[in-house]
Amino acid sequence: MKENHHDVVIVGGGTGGISVAARLRNASPTLDIAIIEPSEFHDYQPLWTLVGGGVVGKETTRRSEADYIPPGVTWIRDRVATFDPDKSALVTEGGTRIRYQQLVVAAGIQLNWDKIAGLAGNLGKGGIVSNYSYDIVDKTWEALRQFRGGNAVFTFPSTPIKCAGAPQKIMYLADDHLRRAGVRDKSRVIYASATPAIFGVKKYAAALEKVVQRKSIETHFRHDLVEVRPASKEAIFRNLDGGAELVLSYELLHVVPPQSAPNFVKSSALANEAGWVDVHKHTLQHVRFPNVFSLGDCSSLPTSRTGAAIRKEAPVLAENLLALRDGKPLTGHYDGYASCPLVTGYGRLILAEFDYDGKPAESFPFDQSRERFSMWALKTHGLPELYWNGMLRGRV
Ligand code: FAD
Repeated sequence: MKENHHDVVIVGGGTGGISVAARLRNASPTLDIAIIEPSEFHDYQPLWTLVGGGVVGKETTRRSEADYIPPGVTWIRDRVATFDPDKSALVTEGGTRIRYQQLVVAAGIQLNWDKIAGLAGNLGKGGIVSNYSYDIVDKTWEALRQFRGGNAVFTFPSTPIKCAGAPQKIMYLADDHLRRAGVRDKSRVIYASATPAIFGVKKYAAALEKVVQRKSIETHFRHDLVEVRPASKEAIFRNLDGGAELVLSYELLHVVPPQSAPNFVKSSALANEAGWVDVHKHTLQHVRFPNVFSLGDCSSLPTSRTGAAIRKEAPVLAENLLALRDGKPLTGHYDGYASCPLVTGYGRLILAEFDYDGKPAESFPFDQSRERFSMWALKTHGLPELYWNGMLRGRV
């Protein structure tokens, strides 16, 4: 077996992996850093909501990974197969054993489409769409434009997911579009969600309940999509409180897949019982292997899985990893900050920002639970710029 070694090895070159690599490189230009990432592309996933809503084309969300690997960092185009943290090593699918002094795991979340019966082979066809995949995100807009009436159903699974706001953001855009197209009075817009309420943070939940009411959206909470029947255009939901199953017919079905830690993480010694990389929630250091860190969607951090959370996690992780290398105490402290730009229609947005305790942690000197055009402009123009030129360069 081929063998090599790097001071710091980063698994995953997505939002978390590149942000950390850039920060480590800026702070320590001589450090030997490698990123293991199989994909030739890097996607800005938060814009997929707007692709689904027909605001931007999907090509605008995708750039070349090579342009974001920081100069001097080694890019290993391979996939990690197994971890061997007792020996500070891992093995790739390509058959290389790579040793490290410190490891950063930023492998993202796994989409488990196969957990929904009947979905295989039908995604992106016959009105079944999803903003959760680059390959078919444009089908959402196609289906919306072709919609002439009937049920438009939007789901949220019973697992943790990335961007807990995304399942409803596209629903609000859909409602807006159907009104503009003059077909809203011939339609039912239905939110069938495994969650117990519209949002987890009280202040924003109260605002969103009013949006749902104003738009006459029907809600079925504690309902989990378990099966689709494309032939009869029916979606089957399990009642999580033990009641009867719910069968909804649909013309459009926006599916958010069940999600989990990636299998290779789940089956490793790095995982906690639920499968996530088991890190301390304030330092981001592994609870059993001190030279391992993790951030983002695959980590056990009990916050909302978003790029916005990673913007605050990355500097803490980089600071603590460098402190460890210098034999100093880990003083970097992450407070759980996360943000969710809740699009509530074209030109309208509630910018939710909160910490581990669900306490609002707002950036602007006004009530962010109000729908605003300025926050929509921030999402459509400001945040993509901040992502590509600030976060991924280790600047913000
Ligand atoms: P990712 O960026 O997904 O990167 C993981 C990387 O690991 C990938 O590049 C993958 O190729 C790589 N990888 C996987 N397996 C292996 C392996 N075996 N070996 C090596 N590498 C591997 N966030 C917001 O902040 N605001 C929003 O408005 C927002 N909206 C969203 C809307 C949608 C529809 C979606 C899907 C997401 C949204 N998000 C939003 C969430 C945000 O995009 C993610 O939380 C963020 O990108 C997670 O970063 P990550 O580094 O953990 O994972």
